[in-house]
Amino acid sequence: MACPDCDLIQRIPPLKLDEAANCVRCNAMLFKNKKNSVDRSLAFALTGLILFIMSNLFPLLSLKALGVVQDETLISTSVSLFQAERPFLSIIILLTTVIFPATTLVGTIYVLLQVKNGRINRHTAPLFRFLRSTDAWGMLEIFMLAVLVAVVKLGDLADVIFGVSLYAFCLLIITLALLSYSLNPHDVWNKLRNANGCQL
Ligand SMILES: [Zn+2]
Repeated sequence: MACPDCDLIQRIPPLKLDEAANCVRCNAMLFKNKKNSVDRSLAFALTGLILFIMSNLFPLLSLKALGVVQDETLISTSVSLFQAERPFLSIIILLTTVIFPATTLVGTIYVLLQVKNGRINRHTAPLFRFLRSTDAWGMLEIFMLAVLVAVVKLGDLADVIFGVSLYAFCLLIITLALLSYSLNPHDVWNKLRNANGCQL
């Protein structure tokens, strides 16, 4: 494994529970063998998927001005931008707030279920590698920041009503952070490497 801080390649010996391996050159932590990492990550990923579905089913925000109420959901935000002739921005928002988070959640649940049940097939490792490479493209927290700035700026012009989805969306951001903390890629790679018929 390459040290994330100094790039020194090292072989990590089998670790006991809660034991950590540190880099021999710069002492950065390489890997910690956390208890029930797969089960905990699976619980966070399933919770995240439920919150993601809730975030998309109901309006995030409703704007009320001059007696007219306009509801906006995550997907309708992208559609509105597309109709306002901002296709590039619309596609970026659709990818970073809907497509990539959905792919990450469904893909992670699929990989973790296979690892947990020992039913790893030849697609599991390439899928996990793909999920690791697209992980950084889910940008829900940045979208949330933009929504908060818009709410403050629009506060004088229109009444802003927070929808159920906004609360689900906030919880989703927290759940995804917890998933990222609890998921131990090194642990998953070890399990994939040890599985029969898995080519890495
Ligand atoms: Zn190092």
